[in-house]
Amino acid sequence: MSLQNPTFIPGPTNLPEVLRKACDMPTIDHRSPLFGDILRPARAGVQQVLKSRDAEILIFPSTGTGGWETALTNTLAPGDTVLAARNGMFSQRWVDMCQRHGLTVEIVETPWGEGIPADRFEEILSADKAHKIKAVLATHNETATGVRSDISAVRRAMDAAAHPALLFVDGVSSIGSMDFRFDDWGVDIAVSGSQKGFMLPAGLAILGLSPKAMAAAETATLPRAFFDIRDMKRAYDNAAYPYTPLVGLLNGLNLSTKMLLDEGLDNVFARHRRIADGVRAAVAAWGLPLCAATPDLYSDTVSAVRTPEGVDATEIVRRAAADYGVAFGVGLGQLSGKAFRIGHLGSLTDVMMLSGLATLEMCMADLGLDIRPGSGVAAAQDVYRKSQTPQAREA
Ligand code: PLP
Repeated sequence: MSLQNPTFIPGPTNLPEVLRKACDMPTIDHRSPLFGDILRPARAGVQQVLKSRDAEILIFPSTGTGGWETALTNTLAPGDTVLAARNGMFSQRWVDMCQRHGLTVEIVETPWGEGIPADRFEEILSADKAHKIKAVLATHNETATGVRSDISAVRRAMDAAAHPALLFVDGVSSIGSMDFRFDDWGVDIAVSGSQKGFMLPAGLAILGLSPKAMAAAETATLPRAFFDIRDMKRAYDNAAYPYTPLVGLLNGLNLSTKMLLDEGLDNVFARHRRIADGVRAAVAAWGLPLCAATPDLYSDTVSAVRTPEGVDATEIVRRAAADYGVAFGVGLGQLSGKAFRIGHLGSLTDVMMLSGLATLEMCMADLGLDIRPGSGVAAAQDVYRKSQTPQAREA
């Protein structure tokens, strides 16, 4: 099996060597004070990455999907109504999870490639005088379409309607890579996973919860056991876990949050923006459309690129892996075969990205697409040469 390194799938992302080493540690007694020395700073680091002063940070051995389940089951009761836009595969899966838990989902059908329609949310919330809607679900970054929704606009819609629903935000493919403001946006639960912006292997569901969300656990009646936030919180009060923790991954999380904060969150976001701008310039040079409908929706962590009629996008991804040993994301759901995805998040530099763009050019040319090798790379190089890092500008 050939190693696919670096990868350009939108998570799991490339694993920096220092983080791989941090995860690979000898066994420690997780009931000893040693564990607290890992857990405490890891939670504090996540809190800073979320831009929150006092969000409760809870970390479960799971993935982002387990984070959704934690959010729903700890705050809601069977039959409760939640509001969600369905604009891609991940918002769809969240809706599906709600329905499987016996929740009623008020779905705002939204074309794939569009963002969350905050104005429509405001109308629906304003009309809900009885406050039947208990939670608003928002997927910050739709990884299937490369669309970033405006969470501050969702919060403004809720406030304009003076609606008390909880705001749950899926930040699985945005947190740690794109600006996320837990406090400013009035988020009640933010959900992420270890394998994207945090640059770690999959295995941790990372959540931030507001005091209002924590309090909801006392009255919520959906069944939960493993994901009960009250057990997790009680254990944390003794710097422990309610079960055996994934010590190595938590050690990695401790270091990864330090790395993000040392780089500076604004620099991390600017790096992602710059790399994404280069990708978008390459895609434009190829003459291919992005799935995201308008520039204000462009995601800085993933681009979904539509292929011309009659070109199987999955074949491009297959070729890249088979012939060049490089991984890209396939189109998901209704975009299967119609789009491929370029992940540009996590531990990535401009030059790494250029190699991914060059690989795609070779694959597309091999498949007979009218793409001149070098055209997209040159367009990206222009972006990377002109827009330097803030550090370089200061030097
Ligand atoms: N939400 C978004 C936006 C995602 O991109 C993903 C995974 O790619 C998930 C949720 C599900 O996360 P996980 O695969 O970690 O369960």
